[in-house]
Amino acid sequence: MPTFVRTDKCDGCKGGDRTACMYICPHDLMKLDVDGSETGHEMRAFNQEPDQCWECYSCVKICPQNAIEARHYADIVPLGGSVQPLRGADSIMWTIKFRNGTMKRFKFPIRTTAEGSIDPYTGKPEADISKVGEAGFFNLGGVQKPGDRSELICL
Ligand code: SF4
Ligand code: SF4
Repeated sequence: MPTFVRTDKCDGCKGGDRTACMYICPHDLMKLDVDGSETGHEMRAFNQEPDQCWECYSCVKICPQNAIEARHYADIVPLGGSVQPLRGADSIMWTIKFRNGTMKRFKFPIRTTAEGSIDPYTGKPEADISKVGEAGFFNLGGVQKPGDRSELICL
């Protein structure tokens, strides 16, 4: 089931060229209605192809205004209930609302290092391009073959 934007909360990411939800959606579904001609809501984002939504929650988590919600399948979240995340720097708080008014919150850590601090190459040896011709650097159909310099993309 797709996501939808709460127009009372969305601020169009303050008029940036590319909103956070447009940036993160793996299916390029989110769009900013700059002049309101598509939805009647100027400078508000919307899910332009709801039936293509993966319900991956990426846009829901990244939205700085917490303006995006997901409609769930009724067997998971019955009508009247909701599941809403609020992402922090090191954790996500999930707010679960039940139809009878009960509300529960669960906080989960999402990282063990400070945001932006990861260096994926720490401790790894420098690439040695002179070894590219050796066996094991390329494979074809699952079979290893000697490298071929002509197959490299050289910028
Ligand atoms: S990320 Fe949130 S605030 Fe920004 S445009 Fe999308 S819905 Fe609106
Ligand atoms: S839930 Fe995922 S696929 Fe659907 S609009 Fe958001 S980011 Fe895109």
